[in-house]
Amino acid sequence: MSQPLVIPFFIPHQGCPHLCIFCNQRLIAKQTLETQNLSSEVARLSDIIQTYLQFKKNRSRVELAFFGGNFLGLEINRIRSLLETAQPWIRQGEIHSIRCSTRPDTITPQILDLTRPFGLETVELGVQSMNDHVLSLAQRGHTSEDTCNALALLKANGFKTGAQVMIGLPGDNEVGAVRTAQKVAELKPDLARIYPLLVLQGSKLVQWFRTGQYVPLSLDEAVDQTKKVVTIFKNAKISVARIGLQATQMMDDPEQMIGGPWHPAFGHLVLSALMFDQVCEKINTALIKQEGLNQRNKKTIVLQVHPRSLSRLQGNRKSNITRLAQTYPEVSFVIERVDAMDIDQVHAYIVRP
Ligand code: SF4
Repeated sequence: MSQPLVIPFFIPHQGCPHLCIFCNQRLIAKQTLETQNLSSEVARLSDIIQTYLQFKKNRSRVELAFFGGNFLGLEINRIRSLLETAQPWIRQGEIHSIRCSTRPDTITPQILDLTRPFGLETVELGVQSMNDHVLSLAQRGHTSEDTCNALALLKANGFKTGAQVMIGLPGDNEVGAVRTAQKVAELKPDLARIYPLLVLQGSKLVQWFRTGQYVPLSLDEAVDQTKKVVTIFKNAKISVARIGLQATQMMDDPEQMIGGPWHPAFGHLVLSALMFDQVCEKINTALIKQEGLNQRNKKTIVLQVHPRSLSRLQGNRKSNITRLAQTYPEVSFVIERVDAMDIDQVHAYIVRP
């Protein structure tokens, strides 16, 4: 099935009662509000919907997504106006559902009763961490219990749920990231997004970074921690919808991107690292099975993957291929693309000499 067309409507920092240590959205919001009168918001939403629908092509589903701020924390009239604006397209079957991102502490029975009839179907929570000390250092203004309660309420009311978690928060570490992932997995959201923490201009974290109070993860550390979190979610059958922030012009601007493990293809790095681990496991199993073969003899191993996983197998700039050659100097590798294979899987077998 084709991916749905997602129509994004960005509401930077609005509806947000706090200012998280890493958030730069107040700056973006200020710029947005300076160039746009609030009363034109509904018109802007209509324009965006119409523009995106022109690109629907053969996609069977269309979702309207409110993200960026704290959608369910906006004033009730504003939530209602925005949701009402989308209704003509929903009634005509041109928009199939609505999703939003929001803080765990804004989920109440009243807000869910208000929004469900308008077609709000998926609510993604900014969970970030399940450790209350880490949440407090990040100045999130909510606790892990708020997340548990919010997810339970959303599920009881039939909403699809998402959980966004962060890697590299102040006061957190690998054990903490794994524990957060395990606790989130126990809550069984339908999907998860994982973001490494970046130090962005306009956030309070810049000061901590400049004074050495906060030391960001290196890219390798962030990839390694994220790999473990992805594995926990995948084992719990939670779909990982995104790994790493989307590349924007701001990310390439050193005045905006102050520090942290930024990489434009962070998700690819993580999935390639996971693929490398899997390949090594399969190769080791194949080698052990061939007890009759002298381990030091030259041999050829065939690696089979789905065509869409080829770049994942090879790694960023073929780094996995280089590492395989270093790890198994006695082995020559042949890569085969197999349409029938699962996208996450790799098979390895030794070709008999
Ligand atoms: S909840 Fe989101 S929008 Fe609000 S301050 Fe934190 S990161 Fe920014």
